[in-house]
Amino acid sequence: MKTFVLVVGIVAIVEALVSVWSLAASWAENLSYSQRSTAENLALSAAFKELGQQAPNPPSDLEIKFTDLRSRDDSRRAGDAEQGVTEKEKRYAHHAGLVHFARACEGCKQTPISMDSSDCKMCGNFGFFNF
Ligand SMILES: [Zn+2]
Repeated sequence: MKTFVLVVGIVAIVEALVSVWSLAASWAENLSYSQRSTAENLALSAAFKELGQQAPNPPSDLEIKFTDLRSRDDSRRAGDAEQGVTEKEKRYAHHAGLVHFARACEGCKQTPISMDSSDCKMCGNFGFFNF
């Protein structure tokens, strides 16, 4: 009986160590992906903004540049979607975008000036107790 308890104890410890290692490795991968995605999304945002500023006097290759940017954006969105971004995180990001660009939300028609959450179903409900 003592041998059985000892074996079960050793197996349980090994399993716990593997689980902890797996979680830690996954966190590192997620952080790395998040940093790459943030950099790419900021670059895309700047490129879209620059292209938008050229719209009054469009260069001849505006459509080609837009198609290229749209393709890169679609690819990044697909990659981000695979990471399991939650609806709450999307609402938070939408709200941050509205604050950054001083735009009104299509849902609540408000132009947020801070990152305080609201009850809006499109740009709010991202507080700690919201899901
Ligand atoms: Zn809103």
